[in-house]
Amino acid sequence: MRFWLGTHLPHWLSHVDTPLFVSRTRLQHRTTLPRARGPWALDSGAFSGRAPAPHRHQLPATAGRRQATRQIAALVADLAAGGLRLHGFGVKTAGLAIYAAYLHSADSLAWSLRGRRVRPCAHGPARSEANCPQFALAWRARVLAAAAHPQLDLLAETRGAAADIDQHGGHQIAAVVGGAA
Ligand SMILES: [Zn+2]
Repeated sequence: MRFWLGTHLPHWLSHVDTPLFVSRTRLQHRTTLPRARGPWALDSGAFSGRAPAPHRHQLPATAGRRQATRQIAALVADLAAGGLRLHGFGVKTAGLAIYAAYLHSADSLAWSLRGRRVRPCAHGPARSEANCPQFALAWRARVLAAAAHPQLDLLAETRGAAADIDQHGGHQIAAVVGGAA
């Protein structure tokens, strides 16, 4: 799985070399762009409630509860088994730990939400870790380590339950059919 670290801070492009998923709303206010050190993608907002691109199938679903996360995991596993290459948009930490093995790629900004509650920043003068690249990169490393050991046992008990997913947004999987890597 290729993991795109979500960020609302475009200046990270110039000093973070891991793949970044940069929010469009912040980028559009800049008159100049930093030279990116690594690969990056623009979060167009197309999967945040607006119309999806026509070549993609979008399955919005909430994963606020453990049960929903398991149902999504079962659905993701079924779609991946059918040969689809899936991108998890804005995936939460719990989801990545469970079904990352079935995703072709994913992005997440969940580190920032968690970082708001970690005070103060251990790496500088900031009052929290909500905007801290060191915190984000450490979170990314933990997520990828957890994703390397997927909890396959969760899937066996939930297969067949995937059709019963809530439709309240907040957690989106897109099946990218064909296309470039
Ligand atoms: Zn920090």
